[in-house]
Amino acid sequence: MAVERTLSIIKPDATARDITGKINAKFEGVSLRIVAQKRIRLTLAQAQAFYEVHAERSFYDELCEYMVSGPVVVQVLEGEDAISHHRDVMGATNPANAADETIRKEFGVTVQENSVHGSDSPETAAREIAFFFSQVEIAG
Ligand code: ADP
Ligand code: MG
Repeated sequence: MAVERTLSIIKPDATARDITGKINAKFEGVSLRIVAQKRIRLTLAQAQAFYEVHAERSFYDELCEYMVSGPVVVQVLEGEDAISHHRDVMGATNPANAADETIRKEFGVTVQENSVHGSDSPETAAREIAFFFSQVEIAG
């Protein structure tokens, strides 16, 4: 295992319910360090660009509208095997299928409003971190 960085987003359903602190406590509780963080409001163009990999999916337009419906918290998480570790802590995409103790099980509302995003590979993590953060914004 190696120390990795991954891109996390706390989504609008979670910022609306003021549970960003509870979600951050989950990350820090499993040694995923928050080495960069900012609360922002995405534009539609930014949401579309971020999720362009899903442009052909039936849920793409609805997903982008949802992601601009309120503020999000974008973060860089760092830790051993952080990319897959983070996805384990998030749980399955659909909260109904997520394992106990996971963030999506505990806080997710629907398959769309599932509270958190996490990069799914080293290549995706590099792209997604660079999408939101410059080097000088990542404190370590
Ligand atoms: P994950 O976030 O677990 O990596 P995907 O990359 O497949 O999942 O999907 C990106 C996001 O799109 C999901 O987190 C969720 O918000 C939304 N989404 C995925 N599948 C659906 C669906 N069937 N209907 C509505 N929204 C969906
Ligand atoms: Mg994904």
